[in-house]
Amino acid sequence: MLVSAKDMLNKAKAGHYAVGQFNINNLEWTKAVLLTAQELNSPVILGVSEGAGKYMCGYKTVVAMANGMLEELKITVPVALHLDHGTYEGAYKCIEAGFSSIMFDGSHYAIEENIAKTTELVKVCAEKGLSLEAEVGSIGGEEDGVIGAGEVADPKECKAIAELGVTMLAAGIGNIHGKYPADWAGLSFETLDAIQKLTGDMPLVLHGGTGIPEDMIKKAISLGVAKINVNTECQLSFAAATREYIEAGKDKSGKGFDPRKLLAPGFEAIKATVKEKMELFGSVGKA
Ligand SMILES: [Zn+2]
Repeated sequence: MLVSAKDMLNKAKAGHYAVGQFNINNLEWTKAVLLTAQELNSPVILGVSEGAGKYMCGYKTVVAMANGMLEELKITVPVALHLDHGTYEGAYKCIEAGFSSIMFDGSHYAIEENIAKTTELVKVCAEKGLSLEAEVGSIGGEEDGVIGAGEVADPKECKAIAELGVTMLAAGIGNIHGKYPADWAGLSFETLDAIQKLTGDMPLVLHGGTGIPEDMIKKAISLGVAKINVNTECQLSFAAATREYIEAGKDKSGKGFDPRKLLAPGFEAIKATVKEKMELFGSVGKA
């Protein structure tokens, strides 16, 4: 059964490790993430952007696929199905469809409107036992066509949103979605430290986990980050493994064109990336 991300994240924050959110795109992706979590006895969050939800034939299809896999693959570790960067309308659709966790990204609204909409969703999610992630200070880079400038959040605004009763808080600290540019300034640990001091036990979320050096990831966890989003890195490893298979001409030998064979190296590559991240984040054995 899908669970809220609340318990797994509160435990992670108290235990000084982070739970990975791995964004999914299709059946292979979902299966790779779930099997790796089970093998490593790690809690996990399946992330679904609105674009990926549409691609996978809608939120109801995603919920049915996730629930079916939990049962058929005998997954016993805690799994949350989480809307990533949800709009106000998207949040309600996912609540309706059976997601167990919601991110409402109101970072592009004025802080007053972000607070008003987040307050409303806190109430709705609490009634249904769902976890809710809010965002302050937009995260840089592009996500589903939405380009953020990579702001650094105002710690006082973070405190105001945290006090509304959200489960977890994403705050921009110079992080970017997608690949990092060569001249990237790095994470602002002063900001993260200030946010944690004002938000106490609130699990903090680090978006754009692809390409952040390992020492920065560890330092961010030590400063209160309890959830780290990984998306692009799985896409890159999937693409590289698939390219290698095709370039080696394996699809032209025997039954190498069978999609179950053709997609297998990409599937294994996602598993390897997820394993590497779970080890780095410290969530192995924490289910
Ligand atoms: Zn994000």
